[in-house]
Amino acid sequence: MRRIVVLSGGIGGARFLEGVRAACPEAEVTAIVNTADDLWVFGVRVCPDLDSVMYTLGGGIDPQRRWGRRDETWNAREELGHYGEPDSWFGLGDRDLATHLVRSARLRAGATLSQVTEELCRRWRPGVRLVPMTDDEVETRIVVELPEGERDLHFQEYWIRYRAEAPLRSLRYAGIEAARPAPAVAEVLAEADAIVLAPSNPVVSLRPILEVPGLRDLVRSSAAPVVGVSPIIAGGHVRGMADQLLGGLGLEVSAAAVAEYHGAREGEGVLDGWLVDPADRDAVDRLHAQGITARAVPLYMNDDATTRQLAADAVGLADALVRRR
Ligand code: GDP
Ligand code: CA
Repeated sequence: MRRIVVLSGGIGGARFLEGVRAACPEAEVTAIVNTADDLWVFGVRVCPDLDSVMYTLGGGIDPQRRWGRRDETWNAREELGHYGEPDSWFGLGDRDLATHLVRSARLRAGATLSQVTEELCRRWRPGVRLVPMTDDEVETRIVVELPEGERDLHFQEYWIRYRAEAPLRSLRYAGIEAARPAPAVAEVLAEADAIVLAPSNPVVSLRPILEVPGLRDLVRSSAAPVVGVSPIIAGGHVRGMADQLLGGLGLEVSAAAVAEYHGAREGEGVLDGWLVDPADRDAVDRLHAQGITARAVPLYMNDDATTRQLAADAVGLADALVRRR
């Protein structure tokens, strides 16, 4: 049986994983999901990327917002606002809250995030195994310049409350030095037939996964080809605000530059292959010179058929690279 491992953030990763599940129904698919967006809010542990993937693949996602639960109500949030609670910028829906309450109770009782995720997935049956990058707490922190001075914010506050617009000074993954890959990570990477980087945010979704000590080496030393899909098309993000973040950090906003940010496995990086949109065809030669095999295929995940085709193209590129190795 073919084993496919996808490194994933939230919304972009979830959509791509729907494509992988549809394109490779016979494969065993595991998603290693970013947890550096996780946070404690009102005493509950929220895992935005794990939940986006779980709800999307489990059919519970709100199709318009693309995060949180469908048929959501917001009574708890409204009540919190009446108390003047400082975290009421965070969109905590009533249905969603139940997930966080269950998760937090289990974590407090001593379960690991890997275990709790598996338990939550018994309800949602995403059809893909969800593995957090680590069971340890890591958080992306951003120092921004606000009119009232510099502030050190959790990434979620920067993203949601300030819409990624405040000029940023620096970004770090707090706690990452002490984190270990979740127990399943080493085995699934070693046994993979293909490793795929979803079209997720390179800086805040995929980099934290690869920065968990030891994890990048597990990817680099796997016998499986490692391919990725660009989240940037024609110099801009597709949905979300990824270009603001890349630009804000002084990085070039292009499909080729994102591949260079992940790096070629031939060098110090992780990639053997990379998919760009036909609009970015010029990236193919630029990346070839660095040892990354790039192909131009449609990258918009606008409907189920194009998303499935994109996933098939990513797995097809990995297959072609296996034969070449
Ligand atoms: P988040 O954790 O919820 O922010 O989601 P991810 O990090 O998994 O994905 C966000 C990224 O998905 C953004 O950088 C978008 O550019 C990218 N993205 C969204 N829709 C598409 C699409 O249709 N095609 C491609 N190639 N990328 C997309
Ligand atoms: Ca995220």
